[in-house]
Amino acid sequence: METKFWQVSATHPDLNIIKQAATIIREGGLVAFPTETVYGLGADGLNPEAVKKIFVAKGRPNDNPLILHIAEGKEILRLARQADGDPRVQQLISRFWPGPLTLVLAKQKIVPDEVTAGLDTVAIRMPQHLVALALIKESGVPLAAPSANRSGYPSPTTGQHVFTDLGGRIEAILESGPTGVGVESTVLDLSGNVPVILRPGGVTREALTEVLGTVELDPGLSDPRLIPKSPGMKYKHYSPRAEVFLVQGERAKVATKIKELTFHYADQGKKVGLLLTQESWASLGAEAEMLPAFYRRDLGSATQLEEIARIIYSELRKCDLQGVEVILTETYQTGGIGAALMNRLLKSAGQRVIKA
Ligand code: AMP
Ligand code: MG
Repeated sequence: METKFWQVSATHPDLNIIKQAATIIREGGLVAFPTETVYGLGADGLNPEAVKKIFVAKGRPNDNPLILHIAEGKEILRLARQADGDPRVQQLISRFWPGPLTLVLAKQKIVPDEVTAGLDTVAIRMPQHLVALALIKESGVPLAAPSANRSGYPSPTTGQHVFTDLGGRIEAILESGPTGVGVESTVLDLSGNVPVILRPGGVTREALTEVLGTVELDPGLSDPRLIPKSPGMKYKHYSPRAEVFLVQGERAKVATKIKELTFHYADQGKKVGLLLTQESWASLGAEAEMLPAFYRRDLGSATQLEEIARIIYSELRKCDLQGVEVILTETYQTGGIGAALMNRLLKSAGQRVIKA
């Protein structure tokens, strides 16, 4: 099929285009759209046939449930029976919605099994992006929407990324430029007594703790012997075609190790890409010029993790476009947004961390 590629202003979306996109959704088709986190691939979340198409287009495993996106907080009552009567839900919504927080709650019958992969809980969020909100409102239904990438690949943060992955496989793409957060929403499970983060993301654990008191982190996220509670977190994910290695240690040692590894892989005839922080480039100093690296990027300062999170998927994708075969990059502090950033980098690296 021919994929329509519509440019839409992020601040003043053209209602005419939004209406055409909403018609596609109501007729059971797929439309990719921007959110503040990454681009989503939307279908009518109450139409099982439309939802099934998402899994086909992405090559997504069927046991990985989808998030329903809504445009008004009160819509949650129609989708999650737990929403009425659980005071935590209202507290979280008023503080964090619209925004990058997904709530997992006991579901209502109206939510099809295709969305929840047969679970009795449903994941719901209200995105903070005018184009996403306008599309949901015009469609008149919650949008089931995972990230709009081929399954396993880094998530898309521009409409062009979506086109690269899904062009010809979906009806339309709404393009509004690069997304602001750059990594996906935080998935918070409220179906038990203690709130559990199933996927770290745009809303930090620290911010959630301020509202809820105790917030746990699913131990399956960090312990390879356990299966993560969120079905999606067990798969290889966020990986470019190039092999990714994370180098961890003190700054000076990291620089030395990166040097060593660059020579090692270049000697093997591999095209090495270096995605390093400003601090690491400074630590390499004049030697950086002598390294047999094929591609180099400065990710900015290790003290500005929001900025690194915003660009990381796009930087991984650029390495692939350049034909890089081995990517050497770093590890980060896991406070704040660093938890989400490290979770994604570890997965893209298949957990390969090299100690410096
Ligand atoms: P994606 O939309 O592809 O970025 O991924 C959505 C994430 O939310 C995946 O990790 C899913 O496994 C997770 N998720 C969605 N619904 C549920 C649910 N009912 N219970 C647990 N995790 C969920
Ligand atoms: Mg995804």
